[in-house]
Amino acid sequence: MHLAELEGLLGKDRVYQDPDLVQSYSNDWTSRYKGFAPAIVFPQSTIEVSKVLSWCSMNRVAVVTQGGNTGMVGGSVPLNGELIISMKRMNNLSISNTNKNHIQAEAGATISEIQNLASSHNLVYGVDFGARDSATIGGTIATNAGGLNVLRYGTTRNQIVSVEAVTGAGRIVGNLNGLEKDNTGYHFPSLLCGSEGTLAIVTQAKLRLWPKPEERVTLLFGLNTVREALEITEACIKSNGNISACELFFQKGLDLIKEVYSLHPLWEDKHSTYLLCEFAGPGGITDELLDGEIGRVLQSQESVLVATNHNDSQRLWQYRELHTLAISSKGIPLKLDVTLPLQNLEYFLNKIERKCQEINPACSPYIFGHSADGNMHLNILYSEPTVKKMEEKVLEFVVSLEGSISAEHGIGRAKAPYLHLQRNEAEIELFREIKKAFDPKAILNPNVIISSDN
Ligand SMILES: Cc1cc2nc3c(=O)[nH]c(=O)nc-3n(C[C@H](O)[C@H](O)[C@H](O)COP(=O)(O)OP(=O)(O)OC[C@H]3O[C@@H](n4cnc5c(N)ncnc54)[C@H](O)[C@@H]3O)c2cc1C
Repeated sequence: MHLAELEGLLGKDRVYQDPDLVQSYSNDWTSRYKGFAPAIVFPQSTIEVSKVLSWCSMNRVAVVTQGGNTGMVGGSVPLNGELIISMKRMNNLSISNTNKNHIQAEAGATISEIQNLASSHNLVYGVDFGARDSATIGGTIATNAGGLNVLRYGTTRNQIVSVEAVTGAGRIVGNLNGLEKDNTGYHFPSLLCGSEGTLAIVTQAKLRLWPKPEERVTLLFGLNTVREALEITEACIKSNGNISACELFFQKGLDLIKEVYSLHPLWEDKHSTYLLCEFAGPGGITDELLDGEIGRVLQSQESVLVATNHNDSQRLWQYRELHTLAISSKGIPLKLDVTLPLQNLEYFLNKIERKCQEINPACSPYIFGHSADGNMHLNILYSEPTVKKMEEKVLEFVVSLEGSISAEHGIGRAKAPYLHLQRNEAEIELFREIKKAFDPKAILNPNVIISSDN
């Protein structure tokens, strides 16, 4: 690979070959995927991305695109020595001149940066999750990230108004016209959202913002069965349209968080199941909620904590948000991110732990997730040497219950061997054809979504 040519095209300050720096970009957040790369390229404009990809395409140099490198399925890791293209230096942000409810963001801007700018205009960005300080807008578009507020604002796909991207052949496609209505043929924002960097590199986007809620109320319920948690979830959804999150977790995860972060126990730990619900909306929603069905639910429950200000709410949220980090502090878990239809969720949750332990009695599964949309994160510690078997059996179980093998993290490299469980042959063939049209030399994120073995 003649990196000097690339340096000549972009300038030396865009191409880094220092082995320590390159290595620090070559492993993923989970430590499960470790790769190697000849260099990292840091483009600073769409034109520069186009120059890099034209050169790579001409020279058949495979690349992986990286945002914050917080992905969970190994998509941003150069497992076979691909060149890394980091979008971190493209991070400009501004409120749109033409529509004050849109934000224009370069791909490397982080979710927090977007949230902060939106907040200073009394607006909110609809996507939020624990990795907000590192995850980028490009990465979240590429994975169609979901997170904590899908119930209210939808996934990332629902936030994108316009997108600009560069195909594997180096062509700039899409636009930033910010038109809410634009039915001019195939819709690139929809197609590129969730394409995990296999079709094009997203360079910029226009994103929808929402009015900032005036009032927020967070409820944490201590419960004894999954059924109770699902019944309360249903009541919250039906309540008054201001529900923004319903998060489920269990005593085992809570015990780990208490141990790792020295947090206080909740209700002296006499419950097995916890549900955190958040409502956000116009002033007066708390009173309205207490007068309605949720008020009746609250009266019927012995263990409920209510937070109506930011600090108290953060204190309750930490019991949910610290799960991922607490689990990773104990080892490298097998991470599965699945959706179950709501009617099968209780069955799944009551069976899954035993199912894992039948495969490997030493394993230790942790479960938490978004109860309103059936999306559960299953993190299994100590599943070696049965990781593959465990993954296969759990995903088959999910499919047998008519669920999805990937709810929000994507397929990446981790789930590519299982794509056939969810997509039929005709669909996978169509995926290949679409890939060929965008990336004729197959240089973008090889083996992501479609592995050479599918
Ligand atoms: C603590 C924690 C909590 C999380 N919670 C959630 C959650 O609730 N919901 C959720 O959905 N995810 C969650 N994630 C996973 C992760 O943050 C998301 O998948 C996120 O979208 C990845 O963004 P990133 O910028 O880090 O992308 P990366 O990890 O760098 O890349 C992810 C994929 O996108 C591709 N990509 C990156 N940038 C671009 C671009 N500009 N153009 C094209 N392709 C690109 C990469 O090649 C790769 O395939 C969590 C992660 C952590 C660490």
